[in-house]
Amino acid sequence: MLNWEWIYCFIASRNVEEDDGHSRYSFVSEEIDMDDNDFGDFGSDPYEFANVIGDGDQPVYPGCRKYTKLSALVKLYNLKAKHGMSDVCFTELLILQGDLLPEGNTIPTSMYEAKKTLCALGLSYEKMHACPNDCILYRKEYEDSTNCPTCGISRWKQGKDSILKEGVPAKVVWYFPPIPRFKRMFQSHETAKSLTWHAARKSIEGQMSHPADSPSWKLLDDKWPEFGNEPRNLRLALSSDGFNPHSSLSSRYSCWPVILVTYNLPPWLCMKLKFMMLTLLISGPKQPGNDIDVYLEPLIDDLKSLWVGIRGVYDAHNGEYFTLRAALMWTINDFSAYGNLSGCVVKGYKACPICGDDTPSHRLKNGHKICYIGHRKWLPINHPYRRQRAAFNGKPEYGIPPEPLTGEEVLHMVENGDRVCWKKKSIFFDLEYWKYLPVRHALDVMHIEKNVCDSIIGTLLEIPGKNKDGIAARLDLLNMGVKTDLQPEYGERRTRLPPGPWNLSKAKKREVCNSFYGMKVPEGYSSNIKNLVSLQDSRLLGLKSHDCHTLMQQLLPVAIRSVLEKPARYAITRLCFFFNAICAKTVDVSKLDKLEADVVVTLCLLEKYFPPSFFDIMVHLVVHLNRTRPEGCIAERYIAEEAVEFCTQHLSDVSTVGVPSSQKMGVSKPLSGCTVSVVDQDLLNQAHLYVLENTEEVLPYIESSLHPKMVEALVCTSDWLRADEFSFYKEPTDDEVEFYKEMEDMTTYSIGAQTTQRGSSNPLTTNT
Ligand SMILES: [Zn+2]
Ligand SMILES: [Zn+2]
Repeated sequence: MLNWEWIYCFIASRNVEEDDGHSRYSFVSEEIDMDDNDFGDFGSDPYEFANVIGDGDQPVYPGCRKYTKLSALVKLYNLKAKHGMSDVCFTELLILQGDLLPEGNTIPTSMYEAKKTLCALGLSYEKMHACPNDCILYRKEYEDSTNCPTCGISRWKQGKDSILKEGVPAKVVWYFPPIPRFKRMFQSHETAKSLTWHAARKSIEGQMSHPADSPSWKLLDDKWPEFGNEPRNLRLALSSDGFNPHSSLSSRYSCWPVILVTYNLPPWLCMKLKFMMLTLLISGPKQPGNDIDVYLEPLIDDLKSLWVGIRGVYDAHNGEYFTLRAALMWTINDFSAYGNLSGCVVKGYKACPICGDDTPSHRLKNGHKICYIGHRKWLPINHPYRRQRAAFNGKPEYGIPPEPLTGEEVLHMVENGDRVCWKKKSIFFDLEYWKYLPVRHALDVMHIEKNVCDSIIGTLLEIPGKNKDGIAARLDLLNMGVKTDLQPEYGERRTRLPPGPWNLSKAKKREVCNSFYGMKVPEGYSSNIKNLVSLQDSRLLGLKSHDCHTLMQQLLPVAIRSVLEKPARYAITRLCFFFNAICAKTVDVSKLDKLEADVVVTLCLLEKYFPPSFFDIMVHLVVHLNRTRPEGCIAERYIAEEAVEFCTQHLSDVSTVGVPSSQKMGVSKPLSGCTVSVVDQDLLNQAHLYVLENTEEVLPYIESSLHPKMVEALVCTSDWLRADEFSFYKEPTDDEVEFYKEMEDMTTYSIGAQTTQRGSSNPLTTNT
């Protein structure tokens, strides 16, 4: 397969740091500073590619079997990106390499030449000048303008002495045209094959494991059969998020990459960095915000032509030319970028883009905030909670949940000036199919999870700044006339807040922190939880979004198990289970209704036992993380999964940049700081059985028809792996045999107890 890795020098050579749910990446390589003229006029000639590849396939020096010109170059370029080598340094290294290698070697002698070779693989870009006030891009009719037609500001940068530097643009946007790169993808035999993976996959009825199971996908198939019938037509998703490339706190400089994801690829490839296609890089001192549409223009133009069809794309797998089409299925964003891209309001009384005008909001007089309570609307009409007053807002609830607007309704609203909830008409409506799509913008479940997790931990541990409880919150309770027993008691010296169901005593808080502190997790599972705990003041500090993910998925319910009063604990644990369920790799459609109903009850329970100030918009959004938006969840889960997988799996022999290299753990080596203790045989057996029963890989075998025979075989004899044992059922595949071999040691332990009971051979003696 072709090496596309060098795209990493743009997007992968970064450290990912996250703060307030906003990812901040820092470029470890030098800033992108290549000039347009660095790139020759490659990319237009369909035969150019073949030439370069033919050229790239030659050995790096005569007789070398290990490296081709291209693989050597890619590997070198990866090094450059990984260690932030300057262009000068890289050029000198190339010259030295050329000198060291035997005569006739093909190592390029300059950065320019190296770039030219790599550029022919499809990565060229356009540098577009923009108005610093985000009004226009200097393209099309403004190509030659020197001043912005809207605000009048000059196109050129103003120097420190207020003199315009002609020719130096005030703001630049990098555009990486996707069409030539899609063409390149089809020119690679293997990638072209992977691009039709979705058509060959076996979908399991009622299970959602890939966007191909989603209503949007089926809508494209049904409404535009000529599009749907061609499996090579691409289905894309767009994701964008701001980050700070300098990663320092002082810098206000922000960077917005816009990335396209191709869902045609198998899930283990589509979220790989090398297939996450960077299309736009917007940088500047301020975030583009709602003006992001200006910058998306060139991309939307390309998407429009992709919808019409790009003729003469060569498919290397089938050896033929065809017309390539592509459709954008949805965008995946965190909540603020969701607002910028969809054009809806994400603050205030109508902050929820799905509920719109009917967002259940309430202004807290003392907290000076708007809280979003009233999730009883989503309960069945005869649910007892609907009639309970005191535990909720003092009133019964007979309302029905608001219906989300369809794309056509939204378009109608924004076009007719009915813009209460809408700030603008989103540029995506320029795509003719956009208004018909059932889900146009998906919420990033990790972002919501992070914010909800912060709120819960902040409130439980009373972390200043994150605590949602306090005097104001108690006064608001009083104001609403509910839970009056929790109102502040004013003493002579200090004000006392009676403990609510969410409050923990000092000792309990310490207990929670201690249990986090003592948690040991497998390598690569999350960052070291221990480092996040501050034992002196019982706090968790610096939680990143992946930490929150693991906390909410598994660790939090364990940590609060023995400390919190049952009702509040129950509500939090239910919420954690919900996040766990929707982040599952496959979502059982038949269980979605149940999941949705459950989360409504969970939110109502939280309303019952937590103060109204706890319910910011993020907590409300949880109610919408359901049937209508599972796609985003799956995609996000893949991102999280991939991050872990990426660390352990080497892609060919070119090590990738920007991800920690995998550290193979010795099987017999204990984790550092461990004390080795001897466990008795019973405990060991129990532990092994537990591991087996809770290992995802074992499940299909436990459930499969092979299972009874396998167990019987195990019980009766230890050399059960002989193929004839299985012939009665079915011939095990090589994979299965391999798997059984691997499992044998473990299985002998767990089945051992039964074996001894039966009095047959005793496998326990073999491995103790
Ligand atoms: Zn302007
Ligand atoms: Zn809502």
